Amino acid sequence: MRLPVLLLVLCACLSACARKDALDDVMARGKLVVISRNSPTTYYMEKDGPTGFEYALAGQLAEELGVELEMRTAFSLTEIFEKLQRGEVDFAAAGLTLTGQREARFPHSAPYYELMPQVVYKTGQFRPRNLGQVGDMEIAVLADSSHAESLRALRETGFPALRWQELPGADSMDLLEQVDTGEIPLAIIDSNEFRVQQSLYPRLKVAFDLGSEQDMVWYLSPAADSARLLDHIDAFITRMRENGTLDRLREEHFGHSDGVSRVGSHTFTRNMRSKLPEHEPLIRQVAREYQMDWHLLAAVAYQESHWNPRAVSPTGVRGMMMLTLPTAKEMGVQNRLHPGDSLRGGARYLKNIKRRLPARIQEPDRTWLALAAYNIGMGHLEDARVLTQRHGGDADLWQDVMEHLPLLQKPGHYRNTRYGFARGQEAVTYVQNIRHYYSILQWQDIPDSKPPPPLKVDDYLPQRVRNLQLRAL
Ligand code: GLU
Repeated sequence: MRLPVLLLVLCACLSACARKDALDDVMARGKLVVISRNSPTTYYMEKDGPTGFEYALAGQLAEELGVELEMRTAFSLTEIFEKLQRGEVDFAAAGLTLTGQREARFPHSAPYYELMPQVVYKTGQFRPRNLGQVGDMEIAVLADSSHAESLRALRETGFPALRWQELPGADSMDLLEQVDTGEIPLAIIDSNEFRVQQSLYPRLKVAFDLGSEQDMVWYLSPAADSARLLDHIDAFITRMRENGTLDRLREEHFGHSDGVSRVGSHTFTRNMRSKLPEHEPLIRQVAREYQMDWHLLAAVAYQESHWNPRAVSPTGVRGMMMLTLPTAKEMGVQNRLHPGDSLRGGARYLKNIKRRLPARIQEPDRTWLALAAYNIGMGHLEDARVLTQRHGGDADLWQDVMEHLPLLQKPGHYRNTRYGFARGQEAVTYVQNIRHYYSILQWQDIPDSKPPPPLKVDDYLPQRVRNLQLRAL
């Protein structure tokens, strides 16, 4: 009896010893391989490249380790855990909640975010205020999610009537979609995800918070010996918490529900009188250099920074035209806070985009489509145009593309595109705002800061005609 037991122990020991050390493995291959979900709260493409909370955090870790970061995406939570189990990736960074069942299967990091699971319903329908009131109303959750695990536990402990459907996709937007269309009356979704997506589903509201706050963690693969890598990650998370990086990333990625500030026409008109005169000569000059209508450049600058040359956002964009660092570099801008440099960078970038659009696209659609690409990136605009065409629309018309841009936020659509998720609704608001400001600028008589020139015949022309001439400048 003793020998087999000894052998078993020896085998277990040997297999443990034979397991690779995860940290050594990462260092030897010079690459950290991380699996995530393509979603607004985790990892997606922006015009300057990949972004998302998980991508940013994992990127910092890779940088500290002096290795490359390879992000992979999964189409379901199930797939994430399968890949992790098989040791195909080093860890999963995908907005994953710490749960008892997962903890038993996978090593996990220290928590780096706290979130609240929320039950969501559609306004106008019955709103339960607690689990007791849910009764047997059906609830949508993601398959293999922490929420499915919670529901199973709750059914055992006092809520036997609970009914739910586990959807196989990886994204909580699938859940919102189901509630919005009325297929399922309720869904459970994490607070950070709901906040980011709510503007897309204005009819959905939180019915009640489910339980208490939960921890978000990274899960490591059990296929390697992860003790040292885990120590390293935990020390990294503590440092990120202490030096404020975690707070900054949180604000940057979850702090807003809609990145575009909608300033009413009233504020705009006020700013036009108080702030524009100071910058108008420079805007006119730069517009002339780039053969643009200065009203358009002024409208873009207003949408970007409210004509504030020192504007800075938590996402690292800055200046009058709110250029990102990569765009500024590409456009040869040395100092983004210099108003002339910033305006020139923005104007050049817009011109570049316009040049890259198919020649057949006519004005003014050409300008509106270019502005959308200026905001969201050329790749995503192309995706929206392909979707437009697939739905029978005209991909060369802003009106049609505008209707399809928000689909880039819906999993059922963005999964079949080349560049994946994008804030399409935001791009629409961006362009529409600019069009609004542009038209006000064009049709208002903007008093010149210079002394009036001697009267010419033109000055006797009706106001509307004069404005038309201004527009041509
Ligand atoms: N946090 C969830 C989980 O770990 C995924 C996101 C969601 O279902 O809202 O399963």
